[in-house]
Amino acid sequence: MFRRVLIANRGEIALRILRACHELGVEAVCVYSKADADSPYLRLADRAICIGEAPAKDSYLNMSRLIAAAEIADVDAIHPGYGFLAERADFAQVCRDCKIEFIGPSPEAMGKLGDKVECKRVAKLAKVPIFPGSEGEIEEEAEAVEVAAEIGYPVIIKAAAGGGGRGMRVCHNEATLRSNLKNARQEALAAFGNGAVFIEKFLEKARHVEVQVLGDKHGHAVHLWERDCSMQRRHQKIIEEAPGPGIDRRKIARVCEGAARLIETANYAGAATVEFLMDDEQNFYMLEVNTRVQVEHPVTELITGIDIVQMSIRIAAGEALPFKQRDIEARGHAIECRINAEDPDKNFMPSPGRIEQWEIPGGPGVRMDTHVVPGYRVPPNYDSMVGKLIVHAGTRQDAINRMARALREFQVGPIKTVIPLHQRLMQDAAFREGTMDIHYLERLLK
Ligand code: ADP
Repeated sequence: MFRRVLIANRGEIALRILRACHELGVEAVCVYSKADADSPYLRLADRAICIGEAPAKDSYLNMSRLIAAAEIADVDAIHPGYGFLAERADFAQVCRDCKIEFIGPSPEAMGKLGDKVECKRVAKLAKVPIFPGSEGEIEEEAEAVEVAAEIGYPVIIKAAAGGGGRGMRVCHNEATLRSNLKNARQEALAAFGNGAVFIEKFLEKARHVEVQVLGDKHGHAVHLWERDCSMQRRHQKIIEEAPGPGIDRRKIARVCEGAARLIETANYAGAATVEFLMDDEQNFYMLEVNTRVQVEHPVTELITGIDIVQMSIRIAAGEALPFKQRDIEARGHAIECRINAEDPDKNFMPSPGRIEQWEIPGGPGVRMDTHVVPGYRVPPNYDSMVGKLIVHAGTRQDAINRMARALREFQVGPIKTVIPLHQRLMQDAAFREGTMDIHYLERLLK
Protein backbone atom coordinates (compact mmCIF):
# COMPACT_ATOMS: atom_id res chain seq x y z
CA MET A 1 0.00 0.00 0.00
CA PHE A 2 1.06 3.60 -0.57
CA ARG A 3 2.61 5.55 2.25
CA ARG A 4 1.28 8.94 1.20
CA VAL A 5 -1.20 10.14 -1.42
CA LEU A 6 -1.71 13.62 -2.86
CA ILE A 7 -5.32 14.59 -3.50
CA ALA A 8 -5.44 16.75 -6.64
CA ASN A 9 -8.92 18.11 -6.08
CA ARG A 10 -11.10 20.18 -3.76
CA GLY A 11 -14.44 20.18 -1.98
CA GLU A 12 -16.49 17.16 -1.07
CA ILE A 13 -14.53 14.71 -3.22
CA ALA A 14 -11.20 15.80 -1.70
CA LEU A 15 -12.63 15.07 1.75
CA ARG A 16 -14.11 11.77 0.50
CA ILE A 17 -10.67 10.66 -0.76
CA LEU A 18 -8.96 11.87 2.42
CA ARG A 19 -11.31 9.68 4.46
CA ALA A 20 -10.58 6.67 2.27
CA CYS A 21 -6.83 7.24 2.66
CA HIS A 22 -7.05 7.46 6.43
CA GLU A 23 -9.14 4.30 6.66
CA LEU A 24 -6.43 2.54 4.65
CA GLY A 25 -3.70 3.88 6.97
CA VAL A 26 -2.35 6.13 4.20
CA GLU A 27 -1.29 9.75 4.77
CA ALA A 28 -3.28 12.30 2.81
CA VAL A 29 -1.75 15.45 1.35
CA CYS A 30 -4.26 18.08 0.25
CA VAL A 31 -3.67 20.92 -2.14
CA TYR A 32 -5.70 24.12 -2.21
CA SER A 33 -6.08 27.34 -4.13
CA LYS A 34 -6.16 30.69 -2.35
CA ALA A 35 -9.96 30.67 -2.68
CA ASP A 36 -10.08 27.43 -0.69
CA ALA A 37 -7.57 28.34 2.02
CA ASP A 38 -10.30 28.23 4.69
CA SER A 39 -11.74 24.85 3.71
CA PRO A 40 -12.16 23.09 7.06
CA TYR A 41 -11.14 19.64 5.78
CA LEU A 42 -7.60 20.93 5.19
CA ARG A 43 -7.11 20.61 8.95
CA LEU A 44 -7.73 16.88 8.66
CA ALA A 45 -4.98 16.47 6.07
CA ASP A 46 -1.53 15.26 7.09
CA ARG A 47 -0.23 18.16 5.07
CA ALA A 48 -1.85 20.93 3.03
CA ILE A 49 -0.05 22.81 0.28
CA CYS A 50 -1.20 25.98 -1.46
CA ILE A 51 -0.83 25.59 -5.21
CA GLY A 52 -1.93 28.97 -6.51
CA GLU A 53 -4.61 31.50 -7.24
CA ALA A 54 -8.35 30.92 -7.39
CA PRO A 55 -8.80 30.33 -11.15
CA ALA A 56 -8.58 26.58 -11.74
CA LYS A 57 -6.06 27.03 -14.52
CA ASP A 58 -3.67 28.53 -11.96
CA SER A 59 -4.23 25.82 -9.36
CA TYR A 60 -6.25 22.61 -9.71
CA LEU A 61 -5.64 22.42 -13.47
CA ASN A 62 -1.98 23.41 -13.28
CA MET A 63 0.01 20.21 -13.77
CA SER A 64 3.43 21.58 -12.93
CA ARG A 65 2.22 23.04 -9.63
CA LEU A 66 0.56 19.76 -8.70
CA ILE A 67 3.65 17.77 -9.56
CA ALA A 68 5.82 20.23 -7.61
CA ALA A 69 3.54 19.78 -4.58
CA ALA A 70 3.70 16.00 -4.99
CA GLU A 71 7.49 16.13 -5.02
CA ILE A 72 7.76 18.49 -2.06
CA ALA A 73 5.43 16.25 -0.04
CA ASP A 74 7.20 13.11 -1.33
CA VAL A 75 4.00 11.20 -2.16
CA ASP A 76 3.79 7.81 -3.88
CA ALA A 77 0.55 8.50 -5.70
CA ILE A 78 -1.94 11.13 -6.84
CA HIS A 79 -5.72 10.75 -6.69
CA PRO A 80 -7.40 13.08 -9.21
CA GLY A 81 -11.03 12.70 -8.02
CA TYR A 82 -13.51 13.84 -10.70
CA GLY A 83 -13.40 16.90 -12.95
CA PHE A 84 -10.21 18.99 -13.25
CA LEU A 85 -7.42 16.64 -14.44
CA ALA A 86 -9.18 13.34 -13.77
CA GLU A 87 -9.74 12.48 -17.44
CA ARG A 88 -6.56 13.95 -18.90
CA ALA A 89 -4.39 11.16 -20.30
CA ASP A 90 -1.52 13.66 -20.57
CA PHE A 91 -1.64 14.19 -16.79
CA ALA A 92 -1.60 10.43 -16.18
CA GLN A 93 1.44 10.31 -18.47
CA VAL A 94 3.20 13.15 -16.61
CA CYS A 95 2.63 11.28 -13.33
CA ARG A 96 4.10 8.16 -14.84
CA ASP A 97 7.13 10.09 -16.14
CA CYS A 98 7.66 11.48 -12.65
CA LYS A 99 7.35 8.01 -11.12
CA ILE A 100 4.22 8.91 -9.21
CA GLU A 101 1.34 6.44 -9.40
CA PHE A 102 -1.77 7.99 -10.96
CA ILE A 103 -4.81 6.55 -9.15
CA GLY A 104 -6.82 5.73 -12.21
CA PRO A 105 -6.30 3.98 -15.52
CA SER A 106 -3.09 3.98 -17.55
CA PRO A 107 -2.79 6.80 -20.10
CA GLU A 108 -3.25 4.17 -22.82
CA ALA A 109 -6.51 2.78 -21.41
CA MET A 110 -7.77 6.28 -20.69
CA GLY A 111 -6.93 7.43 -24.19
CA LYS A 112 -8.70 4.47 -25.72
CA LEU A 113 -11.94 4.73 -23.72
CA GLY A 114 -11.93 8.53 -23.41
CA ASP A 115 -12.17 8.98 -27.18
CA LYS A 116 -15.78 8.28 -28.13
CA VAL A 117 -14.98 6.87 -31.57
CA GLU A 118 -12.23 4.59 -30.26
CA CYS A 119 -14.42 3.59 -27.31
CA LYS A 120 -17.23 2.49 -29.64
CA ARG A 121 -14.76 0.26 -31.46
CA VAL A 122 -13.72 -1.46 -28.23
CA ALA A 123 -17.39 -1.71 -27.18
CA LYS A 124 -18.23 -3.49 -30.41
CA LEU A 125 -15.41 -5.97 -29.80
CA ALA A 126 -16.70 -6.59 -26.28
CA LYS A 127 -20.28 -7.03 -27.59
CA VAL A 128 -21.61 -4.04 -25.70
CA PRO A 129 -24.72 -2.54 -27.34
CA ILE A 130 -23.97 0.76 -29.12
CA PHE A 131 -26.07 3.24 -31.10
CA PRO A 132 -26.51 2.59 -34.79
CA GLY A 133 -24.32 5.14 -36.54
CA SER A 134 -21.12 5.80 -38.41
CA GLU A 135 -18.25 3.34 -38.16
CA GLY A 136 -15.78 5.74 -36.66
CA GLU A 137 -15.09 9.29 -37.71
CA ILE A 138 -17.10 10.94 -40.50
CA GLU A 139 -14.79 12.47 -43.09
CA GLU A 140 -17.12 13.38 -45.96
CA GLU A 141 -20.53 15.00 -46.10
CA ALA A 142 -21.70 12.31 -48.53
CA GLU A 143 -20.77 9.63 -46.01
CA ALA A 144 -22.79 11.35 -43.29
CA VAL A 145 -25.83 11.61 -45.54
CA GLU A 146 -25.56 7.95 -46.46
CA VAL A 147 -25.24 6.75 -42.86
CA ALA A 148 -28.14 8.97 -41.73
CA ALA A 149 -30.39 7.66 -44.50
CA GLU A 150 -29.56 4.14 -43.40
CA ILE A 151 -30.22 4.60 -39.66
CA GLY A 152 -33.04 7.12 -40.16
CA TYR A 153 -33.53 10.64 -38.77
CA PRO A 154 -33.17 12.20 -36.26
CA VAL A 155 -29.43 11.75 -35.88
CA ILE A 156 -26.93 13.49 -33.62
CA ILE A 157 -23.48 14.79 -34.56
CA LYS A 158 -20.97 14.41 -31.77
CA ALA A 159 -17.31 15.21 -31.22
CA ALA A 160 -14.99 12.23 -30.65
CA ALA A 161 -13.25 14.22 -27.92
CA GLY A 162 -16.44 15.86 -26.63
CA GLY A 163 -17.44 16.22 -23.01
CA GLY A 164 -19.67 18.09 -20.63
CA GLY A 165 -22.62 17.92 -23.01
CA ARG A 166 -20.92 20.32 -25.42
CA GLY A 167 -20.53 20.16 -29.19
CA MET A 168 -23.56 18.01 -29.99
CA ARG A 169 -26.07 18.79 -32.75
CA VAL A 170 -29.35 17.05 -33.40
CA CYS A 171 -30.37 16.88 -37.07
CA HIS A 172 -33.90 16.08 -38.15
CA ASN A 173 -33.31 15.98 -41.90
CA GLU A 174 -30.66 15.90 -44.59
CA ALA A 175 -30.52 19.68 -45.02
CA THR A 176 -29.72 20.34 -41.35
CA LEU A 177 -27.23 17.49 -41.34
CA ARG A 178 -25.39 18.97 -44.31
CA SER A 179 -25.37 22.48 -42.87
CA ASN A 180 -24.33 21.38 -39.36
CA LEU A 181 -21.49 19.06 -40.21
CA LYS A 182 -18.82 21.59 -41.07
CA ASN A 183 -19.62 23.82 -38.10
CA ALA A 184 -19.62 20.86 -35.76
CA ARG A 185 -16.15 19.91 -36.91
CA GLN A 186 -14.79 23.43 -36.52
CA GLU A 187 -16.39 23.78 -33.12
CA ALA A 188 -14.95 20.47 -31.95
CA LEU A 189 -11.49 21.52 -33.09
CA ALA A 190 -11.75 24.84 -31.26
CA ALA A 191 -13.22 23.37 -28.07
CA PHE A 192 -11.38 20.05 -27.76
CA GLY A 193 -8.34 20.38 -30.04
CA ASN A 194 -9.65 17.48 -32.12
CA GLY A 195 -12.02 18.01 -35.02
CA ALA A 196 -13.14 14.39 -35.38
CA VAL A 197 -16.93 13.97 -35.36
CA PHE A 198 -19.26 11.02 -35.81
CA ILE A 199 -22.99 10.52 -36.06
CA GLU A 200 -25.39 8.21 -34.33
CA LYS A 201 -29.12 7.68 -34.02
CA PHE A 202 -30.80 10.26 -31.78
CA LEU A 203 -33.24 8.87 -29.21
CA GLU A 204 -36.15 11.23 -28.56
CA LYS A 205 -37.15 9.70 -25.25
CA ALA A 206 -34.67 7.85 -23.09
CA ARG A 207 -33.49 7.15 -19.60
CA HIS A 208 -29.88 7.49 -18.52
CA VAL A 209 -28.65 4.22 -17.04
CA GLU A 210 -24.99 3.71 -16.21
CA VAL A 211 -22.95 0.81 -14.92
CA GLN A 212 -20.24 1.08 -12.26
CA VAL A 213 -17.24 -1.13 -12.97
CA LEU A 214 -13.92 -1.88 -11.28
CA GLY A 215 -10.93 -3.40 -13.04
CA ASP A 216 -7.61 -4.43 -11.47
CA LYS A 217 -4.07 -4.65 -12.84
CA HIS A 218 -4.33 -8.43 -13.07
CA GLY A 219 -6.78 -8.50 -15.95
CA HIS A 220 -10.00 -8.90 -13.94
CA ALA A 221 -13.06 -6.68 -13.87
CA VAL A 222 -16.41 -6.75 -12.10
CA HIS A 223 -19.51 -4.59 -12.28
CA LEU A 224 -21.29 -3.08 -9.28
CA TRP A 225 -24.68 -2.90 -10.97
CA GLU A 226 -26.41 0.13 -12.41
CA ARG A 227 -27.55 3.63 -11.50
CA ASP A 228 -30.39 5.61 -13.03
CA CYS A 229 -29.50 9.28 -13.52
CA SER A 230 -32.39 10.42 -15.70
CA MET A 231 -33.32 13.43 -13.57
CA GLN A 232 -31.17 16.04 -15.31
CA ARG A 233 -31.14 19.70 -16.13
CA ARG A 234 -29.00 20.88 -19.04
CA HIS A 235 -27.31 17.47 -19.18
CA GLN A 236 -26.36 17.84 -15.52
CA LYS A 237 -27.52 15.05 -13.25
CA ILE A 238 -29.37 16.20 -10.17
CA ILE A 239 -30.79 12.98 -8.69
CA GLU A 240 -29.22 9.54 -9.03
CA GLU A 241 -30.41 6.22 -7.72
CA ALA A 242 -29.53 2.55 -7.64
CA PRO A 243 -30.85 0.18 -8.82
CA GLY A 244 -32.69 1.63 -11.83
CA PRO A 245 -36.47 1.53 -11.17
CA GLY A 246 -38.49 -0.97 -13.15
CA ILE A 247 -35.61 -2.36 -15.20
CA ASP A 248 -35.81 -6.03 -16.12
CA ARG A 249 -33.13 -7.67 -13.95
CA ARG A 250 -32.13 -10.24 -16.55
CA LYS A 251 -31.66 -7.57 -19.21
CA ILE A 252 -29.64 -5.28 -16.98
CA ALA A 253 -27.46 -8.15 -15.80
CA ARG A 254 -26.40 -8.75 -19.41
CA VAL A 255 -25.67 -5.05 -19.94
CA CYS A 256 -23.63 -4.93 -16.71
CA GLU A 257 -21.65 -8.01 -17.71
CA GLY A 258 -20.94 -6.32 -21.05
CA ALA A 259 -19.66 -3.22 -19.26
CA ALA A 260 -17.22 -5.32 -17.21
CA ARG A 261 -16.10 -7.10 -20.38
CA LEU A 262 -15.51 -3.74 -22.04
CA ILE A 263 -13.04 -2.54 -19.44
CA GLU A 264 -11.36 -5.93 -19.33
CA THR A 265 -10.92 -5.71 -23.11
CA ALA A 266 -9.40 -2.24 -22.75
CA ASN A 267 -6.96 -3.49 -20.08
CA TYR A 268 -8.39 -0.92 -17.74
CA ALA A 269 -7.43 -0.72 -14.06
CA GLY A 270 -9.46 1.43 -11.68
CA ALA A 271 -13.04 2.61 -11.31
CA ALA A 272 -15.02 3.46 -14.44
CA THR A 273 -18.59 4.11 -15.45
CA VAL A 274 -20.11 2.89 -18.69
CA GLU A 275 -23.02 5.17 -19.58
CA PHE A 276 -26.03 4.06 -21.61
CA LEU A 277 -29.30 5.45 -22.82
CA MET A 278 -32.26 3.09 -22.43
CA ASP A 279 -35.32 3.37 -24.69
CA ASP A 280 -38.99 2.57 -23.92
CA GLU A 281 -38.47 -1.09 -24.74
CA GLN A 282 -35.47 -1.27 -22.43
CA ASN A 283 -32.96 -1.52 -25.25
CA PHE A 284 -29.58 -0.14 -24.22
CA TYR A 285 -27.14 1.96 -26.24
CA MET A 286 -23.73 2.92 -24.91
CA LEU A 287 -23.06 6.67 -24.69
CA GLU A 288 -19.53 6.83 -23.36
CA VAL A 289 -17.16 5.64 -20.65
CA ASN A 290 -16.13 7.93 -17.80
CA THR A 291 -12.63 6.94 -16.77
CA ARG A 292 -12.80 8.07 -13.14
CA VAL A 293 -14.81 7.91 -9.95
CA GLN A 294 -18.14 9.73 -10.36
CA VAL A 295 -20.06 12.20 -8.24
CA GLU A 296 -22.85 9.64 -7.81
CA HIS A 297 -20.65 6.73 -6.67
CA PRO A 298 -22.18 6.70 -3.14
CA VAL A 299 -25.51 5.19 -4.22
CA THR A 300 -23.62 2.17 -5.54
CA GLU A 301 -21.55 1.99 -2.36
CA LEU A 302 -24.73 1.86 -0.30
CA ILE A 303 -26.39 -0.95 -2.26
CA THR A 304 -23.24 -3.09 -2.63
CA GLY A 305 -21.37 -2.29 0.59
CA ILE A 306 -18.20 -1.76 -1.47
CA ASP A 307 -16.09 1.34 -0.87
CA ILE A 308 -15.35 2.45 -4.44
CA VAL A 309 -12.83 5.16 -3.50
CA GLN A 310 -10.84 2.79 -1.28
CA MET A 311 -10.95 0.21 -4.05
CA SER A 312 -9.56 2.72 -6.56
CA ILE A 313 -6.56 3.26 -4.25
CA ARG A 314 -6.05 -0.45 -3.57
CA ILE A 315 -6.20 -1.23 -7.28
CA ALA A 316 -3.61 1.47 -8.08
CA ALA A 317 -1.37 -0.02 -5.38
CA GLY A 318 -1.50 -3.31 -7.28
CA GLU A 319 -4.00 -5.30 -5.22
CA ALA A 320 -6.18 -7.84 -6.98
CA LEU A 321 -9.95 -7.39 -6.71
CA PRO A 322 -10.88 -9.04 -3.40
CA PHE A 323 -14.26 -10.31 -4.64
CA LYS A 324 -15.79 -12.21 -7.53
CA GLN A 325 -18.76 -11.10 -9.57
CA ARG A 326 -21.08 -13.58 -7.87
CA ASP A 327 -20.22 -12.05 -4.46
CA ILE A 328 -21.55 -8.63 -5.46
CA GLU A 329 -25.17 -8.26 -4.50
CA ALA A 330 -27.39 -5.21 -4.90
CA ARG A 331 -29.34 -4.76 -1.65
CA GLY A 332 -32.15 -2.29 -1.09
CA HIS A 333 -32.41 1.05 -2.79
CA ALA A 334 -30.29 4.22 -2.60
CA ILE A 335 -30.98 7.77 -3.79
CA GLU A 336 -28.67 10.76 -4.00
CA CYS A 337 -29.73 14.42 -4.24
CA ARG A 338 -27.05 16.82 -5.33
CA ILE A 339 -27.17 19.93 -3.17
CA ASN A 340 -26.16 22.83 -5.41
CA ALA A 341 -25.83 26.42 -4.21
CA GLU A 342 -28.21 27.68 -6.89
CA ASP A 343 -31.52 29.48 -6.78
CA PRO A 344 -34.24 27.32 -8.40
CA ASP A 345 -36.55 30.36 -8.44
CA LYS A 346 -34.05 32.42 -10.42
CA ASN A 347 -33.27 30.01 -13.23
CA PHE A 348 -30.68 28.21 -11.11
CA MET A 349 -28.44 31.23 -10.77
CA PRO A 350 -25.37 30.37 -8.66
CA SER A 351 -25.75 31.52 -5.07
CA PRO A 352 -22.25 31.72 -3.59
CA GLY A 353 -21.42 33.40 -0.28
CA ARG A 354 -21.18 32.64 3.40
CA ILE A 355 -23.33 29.83 4.77
CA GLU A 356 -24.54 30.90 8.20
CA GLN A 357 -27.04 28.16 8.81
CA TRP A 358 -26.10 24.59 7.89
CA GLU A 359 -28.07 21.96 9.76
CA ILE A 360 -27.65 18.64 8.01
CA PRO A 361 -30.01 15.69 8.35
CA GLY A 362 -29.15 12.46 10.15
CA GLY A 363 -30.84 9.36 11.47
CA PRO A 364 -31.15 5.87 9.99
CA GLY A 365 -29.97 5.31 6.44
CA VAL A 366 -28.79 8.89 5.84
CA ARG A 367 -25.34 9.79 4.53
CA MET A 368 -24.10 13.30 3.86
CA ASP A 369 -20.96 13.83 1.77
CA THR A 370 -19.92 17.45 2.14
CA HIS A 371 -16.99 19.67 3.01
CA VAL A 372 -19.27 22.43 4.29
CA VAL A 373 -19.59 23.52 7.95
CA PRO A 374 -21.50 26.51 9.36
CA GLY A 375 -19.62 29.70 8.47
CA TYR A 376 -18.16 28.23 5.29
CA ARG A 377 -17.93 30.63 2.37
CA VAL A 378 -18.83 29.09 -1.03
CA PRO A 379 -16.25 30.49 -3.44
CA PRO A 380 -17.65 31.72 -6.77
CA ASN A 381 -14.80 30.15 -8.75
CA TYR A 382 -15.82 26.50 -8.95
CA ASP A 383 -18.93 24.43 -9.49
CA SER A 384 -21.86 25.06 -7.24
CA MET A 385 -22.23 21.65 -5.59
CA VAL A 386 -21.88 22.01 -1.83
CA GLY A 387 -22.74 18.47 -0.88
CA LYS A 388 -24.61 15.28 -1.62
CA LEU A 389 -27.41 13.87 0.46
CA ILE A 390 -27.70 10.11 0.08
CA VAL A 391 -30.20 7.72 1.64
CA HIS A 392 -30.53 3.95 1.69
CA ALA A 393 -33.61 1.87 2.53
CA GLY A 394 -35.06 -1.55 1.83
CA THR A 395 -37.30 -0.51 -1.04
CA ARG A 396 -37.51 2.42 -3.47
CA GLN A 397 -40.69 3.70 -1.81
CA ASP A 398 -39.02 3.71 1.59
CA ALA A 399 -35.93 5.40 0.15
CA ILE A 400 -38.06 8.19 -1.37
CA ASN A 401 -39.89 8.70 1.92
CA ARG A 402 -36.61 8.71 3.80
CA MET A 403 -35.17 11.30 1.40
CA ALA A 404 -38.26 13.48 1.82
CA ARG A 405 -37.85 13.26 5.60
CA ALA A 406 -34.12 14.08 5.41
CA LEU A 407 -34.72 17.06 3.12
CA ARG A 408 -37.21 18.39 5.64
CA GLU A 409 -34.53 18.37 8.34
CA PHE A 410 -32.00 20.13 6.08
CA GLN A 411 -31.77 23.86 6.93
CA VAL A 412 -29.47 26.11 4.90
CA GLY A 413 -29.24 29.88 4.75
CA PRO A 414 -28.94 32.56 3.68
CA ILE A 415 -27.57 31.16 0.42
CA LYS A 416 -30.10 29.49 -1.87
CA THR A 417 -29.94 25.81 -2.70
CA VAL A 418 -31.89 23.32 -4.81
CA ILE A 419 -33.34 21.67 -1.67
CA PRO A 420 -36.88 23.01 -2.42
CA LEU A 421 -36.71 21.48 -5.91
CA HIS A 422 -35.69 18.11 -4.45
CA GLN A 423 -38.58 18.33 -1.98
CA ARG A 424 -40.96 18.88 -4.85
CA LEU A 425 -39.47 16.00 -6.85
CA MET A 426 -39.83 13.55 -3.95
CA GLN A 427 -43.61 14.15 -4.23
CA ASP A 428 -43.67 14.12 -8.04
CA ALA A 429 -45.85 11.40 -9.54
CA ALA A 430 -43.52 10.54 -12.43
CA PHE A 431 -40.53 10.33 -10.13
CA ARG A 432 -42.43 8.21 -7.60
CA GLU A 433 -43.47 5.87 -10.40
CA GLY A 434 -39.94 5.84 -11.83
CA THR A 435 -41.12 6.87 -15.29
CA MET A 436 -39.04 10.04 -15.74
CA ASP A 437 -36.80 10.41 -18.79
CA ILE A 438 -33.76 12.61 -19.40
CA HIS A 439 -35.88 15.58 -20.56
CA TYR A 440 -38.54 15.22 -17.88
CA LEU A 441 -37.17 17.82 -15.46
CA GLU A 442 -36.80 20.46 -18.16
CA ARG A 443 -40.40 19.90 -19.25
CA LEU A 444 -41.52 20.15 -15.63
CA LEU A 445 -39.66 23.42 -15.04
CA LYS A 446 -40.98 25.12 -18.19
P1 ADP B 1 -20.78 14.30 -22.96
O1 ADP B 1 -19.48 13.54 -22.94
O2 ADP B 1 -20.62 15.65 -23.58
O3 ADP B 1 -21.48 14.30 -21.65
P2 ADP B 1 -22.59 12.21 -23.92
O4 ADP B 1 -22.27 11.37 -25.10
O5 ADP B 1 -22.43 11.58 -22.59
O6 ADP B 1 -21.71 13.54 -24.03
O7 ADP B 1 -24.04 12.80 -24.06
C1 ADP B 1 -24.54 13.79 -23.17
C2 ADP B 1 -26.06 13.83 -23.18
O8 ADP B 1 -26.57 14.14 -24.49
C3 ADP B 1 -26.73 12.50 -22.84
O9 ADP B 1 -26.85 12.33 -21.45
C4 ADP B 1 -28.07 12.67 -23.54
O10 ADP B 1 -28.92 13.48 -22.75
C5 ADP B 1 -27.73 13.41 -24.80
N1 ADP B 1 -27.43 12.46 -25.90
C6 ADP B 1 -26.22 12.07 -26.31
N2 ADP B 1 -26.32 11.17 -27.33
C7 ADP B 1 -27.63 10.98 -27.56
C8 ADP B 1 -28.39 10.18 -28.49
N3 ADP B 1 -27.80 9.40 -29.38
N4 ADP B 1 -29.74 10.25 -28.42
C9 ADP B 1 -30.34 11.05 -27.51
N5 ADP B 1 -29.70 11.84 -26.63
C10 ADP B 1 -28.35 11.81 -26.63
